[in-house]
Amino acid sequence: MAAFSEWACACEKVKISTGNNFSYLHGDCCCDDCNIRHRVAADKYCGPADKKQHWTSFAPNDTVELYGAYGGAMEVTSGRENIGYFRCGIDSKTGTWSKKHPQFPDTCRTVTLYAKCCGVWIGFHGPPNSLVPVHFEMNPRGLSGWTRKEEADGFQYTVFSTKFVDTTGVKLNPPLKKGDVGRMPPFRCCGCGTGTMCGLMPWLCCSKMDAAKCCMCCPASCCPCIAGKIKDSAFESAPPGATELNGKQIEYICDLPDADKYLKFPLKEAALSQAPLSVEMGKSQQ
Ligand SMILES: [Zn+2]
Ligand SMILES: [Zn+2]
Repeated sequence: MAAFSEWACACEKVKISTGNNFSYLHGDCCCDDCNIRHRVAADKYCGPADKKQHWTSFAPNDTVELYGAYGGAMEVTSGRENIGYFRCGIDSKTGTWSKKHPQFPDTCRTVTLYAKCCGVWIGFHGPPNSLVPVHFEMNPRGLSGWTRKEEADGFQYTVFSTKFVDTTGVKLNPPLKKGDVGRMPPFRCCGCGTGTMCGLMPWLCCSKMDAAKCCMCCPASCCPCIAGKIKDSAFESAPPGATELNGKQIEYICDLPDADKYLKFPLKEAALSQAPLSVEMGKSQQ
């Protein structure tokens, strides 16, 4: 299989054709929502035992690995019935659950897609402010041929949400500072790879103008990615507070009886107690 051409879940029932169309391939997110999302999926994991570590571990720097893709390029090629949806957002200021995005309560339509067959998370809609409404943050551990690629500071090139490091316990290495936006992705336009900014300024994208003539950034044919349309309904988003998407119930993790365990950040607590990060909570005092 060609590198980056297909996304597959742990049990390989869910397969997604990627269109080989990415905004960035190597990202690390320090945020609290991704931290929770990753732990929720780790608890849901029911795939092959020998792949559990691959799918449920955090990155070596305790972040959650991501890559960026466009909803206009991706298509589910098998296992559509296994795709489920959940939401697990919190209000970062209070550290409590929030069914709506605290900053964008009326507009944030983010939902996390996951594979019910094995419990791994697939991706989620981002960013929440609708700057690039069809942009996805995807789980690179399912992307064919993907391997982690670190810069000298131990982080991948693209870094998000460093302001959350006190919550999640991620330790930054200079020159990354707390509160930095991080390192923004190159927002490469689809296949052209020239690093142009049409992902960031969609109005400059040829698809928004006349694709037949305009080619400010890349060959005219290469811009289905950011045309503002979702190719496959599996990737549709849902209004804030919605209970259903594509006829499936959206699970709100906050409604689970033991939901509050996700509000405790193991990485942070482990750091505070000076225990090695690999020590399981509760065992370090024995
Ligand atoms: Zn995140
Ligand atoms: Zn699966």
